[in-house]
Amino acid sequence: MSFEKNIATNILIVGGGITGSVAASLIKNEAVVNIEIWERMDQIGGRYQTYRSSSTPKCSVDCGAQYVSVSLEFIRSQAKFYDELLEKELLMPLGQKIENFRKLSETKTLFVAPGGTDSLVGHFLKKADCSVHLQHEVTEINLKEEERTWEVKATNGIVKSFDVVILTIPVPEVLKLGGNFLGISQDDDVKVAMEQVKYLPRIAVALIYDEPVKYLEDLPTTMKYFPDDDILHFMSVDNKKRRTDQGSTWHNFAKHHIICREMCRPE
Ligand SMILES: Cc1cc2nc3c(=O)[nH]c(=O)nc-3n(C[C@H](O)[C@H](O)[C@H](O)COP(=O)(O)OP(=O)(O)OC[C@H]3O[C@@H](n4cnc5c(N)ncnc54)[C@H](O)[C@@H]3O)c2cc1C
Repeated sequence: MSFEKNIATNILIVGGGITGSVAASLIKNEAVVNIEIWERMDQIGGRYQTYRSSSTPKCSVDCGAQYVSVSLEFIRSQAKFYDELLEKELLMPLGQKIENFRKLSETKTLFVAPGGTDSLVGHFLKKADCSVHLQHEVTEINLKEEERTWEVKATNGIVKSFDVVILTIPVPEVLKLGGNFLGISQDDDVKVAMEQVKYLPRIAVALIYDEPVKYLEDLPTTMKYFPDDDILHFMSVDNKKRRTDQGSTWHNFAKHHIICREMCRPE
């Protein structure tokens, strides 16, 4: 997609996750445009979601993505991008072993976000200097041919027209949207491929402690996958993962529901 410089365009990005925030920042870098982001939840982040306890705000737990895994080749090709994230300490090398992690290709590097993965989304949104509208769940998109605009409706009753609409929501959510947009120039193969996309359900459980907890601090591993367990998929001691000393935060991803103190809902 290309935009002519200095042409004001009203752009809607649907979804306030990492894709939406990076897209907004890249577009803003290239063109003079007005960008709005509509996010259905009451917080940004999407599956880069970080849970912060109201009682212990210093402790936070990544409930979606745990680490960023990139090839050296990609880091080199996007050096400006990664240099800034490292310099601002929004990312740092993981530098720890993940137990039962599938064998890494030698060229992959893992990073963690010391401020929580949603801090990356916050960073790109700030760079994009766009307006973010929470609790705006898009339900319908219609092409208005006469006006050459896209009319977008949200559950809160808002209806607004944009020159460009960019969807960054998961494919099953795209297929749920009403309006005429899905029928326009839709390649059958693409539609079939989209219909085959399935969610993998994951329940994230976050346990937050005011003080370091000895058995968590003494665990020989910070992060672990449980490939043979019917319930647990992954666990992480988040303060150790980020190498901070802010109490203990622990969480796991369950394959099925388990009883928990705090629960987050990644998609
Ligand atoms: C449990 C879990 C662990 C993961 N671990 C890792 C990892 O360690 N490393 C890694 O690289 N990746 C990991 N991933 C994958 C990674 O989180 C995703 O690939 C990434 O976050 C996707 O970002 P996105 O912005 O494309 O989509 P999303 O984060 O899904 O953002 C889409 C946003 O759109 C919003 N939305 C949806 N429908 C609508 C609508 N109709 N109107 C308005 N807004 C809407 C959603 O609320 C959401 O905020 C993990 C994912 C999960 C669930």
